[in-house]
Amino acid sequence: MHIAFIGLGNMGAPMARNLLKAGHQLHVFDLNPHMLAELAQLGAQVSASPRDAAQQAELVISMLPAAAHVRQVYLGDDGVLAGIRPGTPALDCSTIDPQTAREVSAAAALQGIDLGDAPVSGGTGGAAAGTLTFMVGASPALFATLKPVLEHMGRNIVHCGAVGTGQIAKICNNLLLGISMIGVAEAMALGDALGIDTQVLAGIINSSTGRCWSSDSYNPWPGIVDTAPASRGYTGGFGADLMLKDLGLATEAARQAQQPVLLGALAQQLYQAMSQRGEGGRDFSAIVEAYRKPTN
Ligand code: NAD
Repeated sequence: MHIAFIGLGNMGAPMARNLLKAGHQLHVFDLNPHMLAELAQLGAQVSASPRDAAQQAELVISMLPAAAHVRQVYLGDDGVLAGIRPGTPALDCSTIDPQTAREVSAAAALQGIDLGDAPVSGGTGGAAAGTLTFMVGASPALFATLKPVLEHMGRNIVHCGAVGTGQIAKICNNLLLGISMIGVAEAMALGDALGIDTQVLAGIINSSTGRCWSSDSYNPWPGIVDTAPASRGYTGGFGADLMLKDLGLATEAARQAQQPVLLGALAQQLYQAMSQRGEGGRDFSAIVEAYRKPTN
C-alpha cells in the first residue's frame, strides 16, 4: 500500500520503519531533513510537503508534536487536504485535544475524507518493537480499513468510538497515571521516613490494595523494579514534560466540559514545578524527589 507518513520524530520514525519492514511503500515528510535522509536510506520516498505526500497516497498517517502542528499539516496551504484524493482514509496518531481532532476531521469530511484519531501508548520502546496500543476514534468502516495496517506497528488496536474518543481515552489514562505515580511516590517516601525497608513496603503494596502499575512495574523508588527508570537515574522513560503536556490536555478538556479534575490539576502543578527546576527531560517518576530529604 502507498502510505503518506508525516512526522518522523521519536515515535514516528520507528513506526514508519515498521511499515517499511512490512512491505508498504512510504511517502515521508518531516521538517527535519536528517530524518528524511534516514528513512530514504531504508527505501522511503521523500516528499516535498504534506500535500505532495498525500497526493501519492492510498492512506495518510501523521505523528506530530501537538495540535498546532496537526492543524498546519492538514489544513495549511501545502497541507494534506490540499493534495489528498477524495475517498483516501487518513489517521492522526499525535496526542492532541479531542476538540481539535474533531474539528480537523470535520474539515476533512467536507472533502470526502474520513480522518480518524489514534493516539498511542507504549513509548519509544513500543514504537520500535511494534507493540504500541492504538486508541482509535473512527467510523466503523475506517477502523476496519486501518486495523490491518496498525497491526504492523502495534499489538493492541482498540476501537474507542467516534472521532475524538481515541484522544479522550488517552488523556483520561494519562491523567490517572500522572496522579497514581505521585500517590506511589508519596507512600514510598513516607514509609522510608518512618523507617520501613522500602523493598518490604513495595512488596506489601504490590500484594495489597494499593497496587497499581506505578507501584509494581514502574516504581519511582530506586532499586525496587530493576527495569524502571528509577533504577537507572530516571533516564530513558517518559519525560516529565510529556506528562505535563498530557495533563494540560486533560485539564483543558475538563475545563471545556465543566468537569472538576481536582487531583489532576494538583498533579499538573507538581510536574510543572519539576519542569521549572530544569527536570522536564527526566522520567516523570523522578517526582518522588519532591518528597525525599536532601542527602547533604
Ligand atoms: P517528536 O518531537 O520527537 O517528533 C515530532 C516530529 O514532527 C519531529 O520530527 C518534527 O520535525 C515533526 N514536525 C513538526 N512539525 C511538523 C510539520 N509541520 N510538518 C512535518 N513534520 C513536522 O515527538 P514524538 O515523541 O515522536 O511524539 C509524537 C506524538 O506522540 C506527540 O503528540 C506525543 O505526545 C505522542 N507520544 C509520545 C510518546 C513518547 O514516548 N515520545 C509516547 C506516546 C505518545
